[in-house]
Amino acid sequence: MDQIEQNLHQVKENIAAACRRSGRNPDEVRIVAVTKYVDLETTRRALDAGLTHIGESRAQEAVPKWEQLGDRGIWHFIGHLQSNKAKAVAGRFTYVHSLDRFSLAKELNRRSEAAGRPTRCFVQVNVSGEASKHGLDPVEVKEFVEQAAEFPYLQLEGLMTMAPFTEDPEEARPVFRRLKELQRELQQSGASGTALPHLSMGMSRDYQVAVEEGATFVRLGSVLVGEAYPKQR
Ligand SMILES: *Cc1c(COP(=O)(O)O)cnc(C)c1O
Repeated sequence: MDQIEQNLHQVKENIAAACRRSGRNPDEVRIVAVTKYVDLETTRRALDAGLTHIGESRAQEAVPKWEQLGDRGIWHFIGHLQSNKAKAVAGRFTYVHSLDRFSLAKELNRRSEAAGRPTRCFVQVNVSGEASKHGLDPVEVKEFVEQAAEFPYLQLEGLMTMAPFTEDPEEARPVFRRLKELQRELQQSGASGTALPHLSMGMSRDYQVAVEEGATFVRLGSVLVGEAYPKQR
């Protein structure tokens, strides 16, 4: 079996176990294979292994891959997005996980309209409050969502966060839990744009905890296709 297939098999087992522990249905959890570390050939192997959601974080590197493989998968832009790269992303990437400011929303809406295809967006939230992280302060999210909901070529899918880098994945749990709570608060507010059914959270180190806390998209690089194919934990 190909190494990526083996890794995927293990990841699916871990997700299923996390779902059993938390009473969730594993069908609710989608795996985004983050291929930002690897070349075109390895990205192709990820698709061959049955991974359909492909995540990239830099437009310059992603667009050449998309040109070769775009029609084989569903593409997710997961990195920080500069407004001047919105043109490259719109029409190619089905999802953007890093919507975090009004100027970007405006530009992405304009470029998506020009491309004739709406972009599905996650609002990135800086739950942990680390200065190094992008994303809105949780208290800013409601107003931002209401504004973003006005853009006809943006479809708001949910919230995204990145947990702090720690050795112990348990330390990420309160961050994931807070994002889930924020989702509930927004949904209960009934404000425009707050249906927000999805949560994009969990990376290689902490996805099992994220699934226990309600993730519907996990973004996995190193455990699936990382250069060193690190061993599963
Ligand atoms: C790189 C990256 C990932 C994947 O990281 P791994 O730890 O290798 O799984 C997920 N999300 C974002 C936003 C990233 O930049």
